[in-house]
Amino acid sequence: MENDFMLQALNEAQKAYNKLEVPVGAIIVKDNKIISRGHNQKEIQKDCTQHAEIIAIRKACKKLESWRLNDCTMYVTLEPCAMCAGAIIQSRIKKVYIGTMDKKTGCCGSVLNLFNDYKFNHHVEVEIGICQAESEKILKDFFKELRIIKKK
Ligand SMILES: [Zn+2]
Repeated sequence: MENDFMLQALNEAQKAYNKLEVPVGAIIVKDNKIISRGHNQKEIQKDCTQHAEIIAIRKACKKLESWRLNDCTMYVTLEPCAMCAGAIIQSRIKKVYIGTMDKKTGCCGSVLNLFNDYKFNHHVEVEIGICQAESEKILKDFFKELRIIKKK
């Protein structure tokens, strides 16, 4: 089940890839159903807040007509950054499944761990390494292709 949902997040990452955006995808699940999807659109939107997680959170809130996502879980292909980890805490998402870690900007264990290390009143459960190989591969492929494009 977890793998199926992460494959859906990877599908979102592929959409970003196709638009030449860094391929990161996220979905939000409630009662075993996908209620929202998002993929990175930073370049197209020219907006640094257009990360997959933020887009998925905004859509989920709209759908549920509430900022509280207590009973929701998120599947995201790459470890969330500080902004997204903050939004996840604010939205009260219960659990986040992460595909692969981001050593440079990840804030769920890599650079910082905003979900555990601080005295926030909401703690987010985390499970790392769901479809890890696929989540890594799409990023590696993307950056490889980008280097080729830039050389041309
Ligand atoms: Zn982010």
